Amino acid sequence: EVAVPTSQESAILVTVRVRPFTEREKALLPSATPARFNFGCEPNAETITPLNGKTNLRKVVEVMDERILVFDPPDERASSSYGHSTAPAQTNKRHKDVRFAFDRVFNADSTQQEVYLATTQPLIDAVLQGFNATVFAYGATGCGKTHTISGTPEDPGIIFLTMKELFEKIKTYEQDKVVEASLSYLEVYNETIRDLLIEPGTSAKPLALREDARRGVVVAGLNECHPNTVEDVMELVLRGNRNRTQSPTEANATSSRSHAVLQINIRQKSRAGGLSNDMVSATLSLIDLAGSERASVTKNRGSRLLEGANINRSLLALANCINALCDEKKKRHIPYRDSKLTRLLKFSLGGNCRTVMIVCCSPASTYYEETYNTLKYANRAKNI
Ligand code: ADP
Ligand code: MG
Repeated sequence: EVAVPTSQESAILVTVRVRPFTEREKALLPSATPARFNFGCEPNAETITPLNGKTNLRKVVEVMDERILVFDPPDERASSSYGHSTAPAQTNKRHKDVRFAFDRVFNADSTQQEVYLATTQPLIDAVLQGFNATVFAYGATGCGKTHTISGTPEDPGIIFLTMKELFEKIKTYEQDKVVEASLSYLEVYNETIRDLLIEPGTSAKPLALREDARRGVVVAGLNECHPNTVEDVMELVLRGNRNRTQSPTEANATSSRSHAVLQINIRQKSRAGGLSNDMVSATLSLIDLAGSERASVTKNRGSRLLEGANINRSLLALANCINALCDEKKKRHIPYRDSKLTRLLKFSLGGNCRTVMIVCCSPASTYYEETYNTLKYANRAKNI
């Protein structure tokens, strides 16, 4: 059971989603019943090149239950009897074998609906009561962030499922309130903000961030859409995603270097209130963060190096803000100004806001270092 944090001490909910192996990865996995001639000196599984020339993959993330996962367990048998340690002599130092606990862990079988229900759905009522909330998908490129936040028309993700429920809720309120839900979708790329919902054929100009005493943080000139159906929402999101900046790197040709920020703005006014000024408004931000892999991993050069540095700057700034916010009793300075992303989210993090982190990772050994770094980042966010 995952509780929505209600106190300052647990202002952030940290969850981990381990995606299934892709078809390509499955083809590289050793057969289900491998012949093992293990004399305790086999080379690292990541580097095994079998006779057919393929590089073997292995599973390096084992989900134990709804809260625990083990990174790089010694071997399948050892991990399935984890905790009973019947053969400690077999434990090999080559394996990190690190156990992590999170508020919730989703295994490869978990559905979009399950992830939605345990992460974002509990925020909807808070947003309707006027509290801002933010959901982040964090993780290396190829680990399931876009799948989780946007999904596909066949398997829609959090944005779609959230809007579906919001539309239903708004309908039930219609008698007493006028509720308006609008969407904006932008990307932060190289510390520049661009609208993702521009008209086809127009080019996106860099947009300025302004702080407004009454309205909080405002992105000047950003489109606000008023979709009427969930189908409209899916279309908007897919169009926005096609407008995202993609830049080829050595590590992954489609690696995404931008943070995509979808904001659902809810404005409500009581019908009984007549002319009285009792407007309640709040924003739910759903964020598909840029790939968390380090610049060094992708062997970036020139402009890509700067790109990498900026991504790390935003992710680092985000981590620093979250850390500082959770230390609020000590009245620490919150370094919002360190990056565009954190400036944008100034009123959507901390305080009365709810924050949920969905950390995405691959089970495959090809992501060994990324996954370990990702889990360490997530673990730090949790310890606040
Ligand atoms: P990211 O946005 O983190 O780079 P993607 O969301 O694009 O990663 O996922 C990479 C690939 O893995 C895609 O082909 C996607 O469809 C697939 N994938 C990711 N997560 C899942 C999941 N939970 N179930 C099925 N396929 C997934
Ligand atoms: Mg993506």
